[in-house]
Amino acid sequence: MNGDEIEVIITPTYSGCPAMDMIAMNIRLALIEKGYSKIKITSVLSPAWTTEWMSEAGKEKLKAYGIAPPHTRSDAPMNREDFVVECPQCHSTNTKLLSEFGSTACKALYQCNDCKEPFDHFKCH
Ligand SMILES: [Zn+2]
Repeated sequence: MNGDEIEVIITPTYSGCPAMDMIAMNIRLALIEKGYSKIKITSVLSPAWTTEWMSEAGKEKLKAYGIAPPHTRSDAPMNREDFVVECPQCHSTNTKLLSEFGSTACKALYQCNDCKEPFDHFKCH
């Protein structure tokens, strides 16, 4: 592959995720800034992306962005009510679910009971 040519393969968190176009555009813009001119973005629906693919570093970035990262399947509780989502602002676990759908369908909207900040939680699926 030439230095100015790059192919990026992205897998949507689930098909029809409205954030996909935005993600593809952000990747393109970031690569243009890095000096790539030929950018090919391929979305691959299979194998389906799961939150298991998210690296610890990726989760930290989400947190820094103010989005609570998904649970890994091993530590996700069976009952929805037992779900403890940590506030990305103050790290309190005293949070409540406001809406199953946040800014995009892949995220749920939570609010922290301590600092009162609303935040998105990336849903595990
Ligand atoms: Zn908080």
